[in-house]
Amino acid sequence: MIQLRDLEKSYKLGNQRVLACRVPELLIAKGEHVAILGRSGCGKSTLLHLISGLLLPDRGSIKVRGLEMTKLSERARDRFRAKHLGYVHQTFNLLAAYDALHNVMLGAFFAGMPHSGMAEAKAMLGRVGLGDRLSHKPKQLSVGQQQRVAIARALIKKPEILLADEPLGNQDPETGKESLGLRLEIAKEMGTTVVIVTHDDQTADLLHRKVVLPDHQRVSGEVA
Ligand code: ADP
Ligand code: MG
Repeated sequence: MIQLRDLEKSYKLGNQRVLACRVPELLIAKGEHVAILGRSGCGKSTLLHLISGLLLPDRGSIKVRGLEMTKLSERARDRFRAKHLGYVHQTFNLLAAYDALHNVMLGAFFAGMPHSGMAEAKAMLGRVGLGDRLSHKPKQLSVGQQQRVAIARALIKKPEILLADEPLGNQDPETGKESLGLRLEIAKEMGTTVVIVTHDDQTADLLHRKVVLPDHQRVSGEVA
């Protein structure tokens, strides 16, 4: 489902090149649930951005569902992301002016679903235990409930791949674990491939496999 080879992404900062992410090889099978671990700054978030096509690497290959991301235009990558990827943001990114139902319906809209998605949104909110909170706005919901709305929004389009960059423990561990358990359960039903960045070994234990990114040399020489 996801094949990475000889991947390298660096940033130019002044006259130095900062290596942000290097992955010689990583293969993730369809339906697999993978935890990405590693020290702060080792390139975990960068790796998720590369897989989702938000960033392009300096070199190497990123194949997702057989498509070489580095050969797609920005527009094609945007369309690909909208259609096939679900993303649970650290801060949920819910729209404050809209209730739970409409926040989830927006997930259907951006995925280009041919109808309003209201029935699916109701069903998905029921699935995450919020069937009686459809008209609540984000600030009328607990943090855990807000996260479940974000999960419903990411999963309404039945994405083939679910990506998440977990917060640095700025959430109580019980809520985080419950939300992860729920995501994995729904992902399993739908056959979704899951890639989660985490700092927490216990969280990682809930997934099928752990991939630890090495703490590479951050500064890789001068830029000509
Ligand atoms: P992690 O998520 O593992 O903590 P990141 O992927 O966010 O790490 O970043 C990897 C490295 O790349 C860090 O050293 C970071 O400072 C650097 N980096 C990330 N984004 C940029 C950027 N836009 N410009 C320069 N350096 C960056
Ligand atoms: Mg990060």
